[in-house]
Amino acid sequence: TRDTAVGFPPPRRLTVLSGPSGVGKSTVVAEIRQAHPEVWLSVSVTTRKPRPGEVHGLHYFFVDGPEFDRLVGAGELLEWAEFAGNRYGTPRAAVLERLGAGIPTLLEIDLEGARQVREAMPEALLVFLAPPTWEELEKRLRGRGTEPDDVIERRLAAGRVEMAAEPEFDLTLVNTNVQDVCHRLIALMTDPQGVATST
Ligand code: 5GP
Repeated sequence: TRDTAVGFPPPRRLTVLSGPSGVGKSTVVAEIRQAHPEVWLSVSVTTRKPRPGEVHGLHYFFVDGPEFDRLVGAGELLEWAEFAGNRYGTPRAAVLERLGAGIPTLLEIDLEGARQVREAMPEALLVFLAPPTWEELEKRLRGRGTEPDDVIERRLAAGRVEMAAEPEFDLTLVNTNVQDVCHRLIALMTDPQGVATST
C-alpha cells in the first residue's frame, strides 16, 4: 500500500485570536491581511449590518437571521456566538479545507467562540490579545464613535467579562504595537519554535 501522506503538507494547527472588543484585533487582522498572504484569515458569517468600508466576502459574509439559522441547523458552522445583539459564526468547511492543505489558518473571534473551538479542536492554539491597560481599552471603546451609548456600554460590559478569561488561553500578546503583535503571531503560526520564544 502507498503511504498517501508522502508529498502532502502536514495539517496545520489552527490559531485563534480573541480578546475584548476594541483591543485592536481587527487592526492586527488588517495588517496580516495586507502583509502576510501566507496566512489564511477565516471569513465569518454575521447578522450584523456592514460598517462603512466593510466588504461582503472579505471582512464578513453578511447574512440575515433566517440564513444564519439555516447554517446553524445544517451544521455548517465550526462555532458561533451572539455578541452585542448580533450573531457571528465560522464556516467550518473553509477552515478544514485550508488546514488540510497545510495552510496556516487564523480565526479572529470572540471568547465564546474561542471556547467552542477549544472543545471542537483541542489542538488549536488560543491567543489572547490584551490591551496595555484596562483604561486604554475603555478609551478605545468610547473613542470609536460609531455606535450609540447603549451599544458602547454593552461592549464595555462584554470586554470586562472577556478580560477575565485571559487564563483560559494558551498565551497572551499585549497589544502595545500592531507590528510587534503581528510579528509574534506570524512566528507562532509559521515557525514551531515561535511558541517557545513568545511571551
Ligand atoms: P465586530 O462587530 O466588531 O466586527 O465584532 C464583534 C465581535 O465578534 C468581535 O469580538 C469579533 O472577534 C467577534 N467575531 C467576529 N467573527 C466571529 C465569529 O465567526 N465567531 C465568533 N464567535 N465571534 C466572532
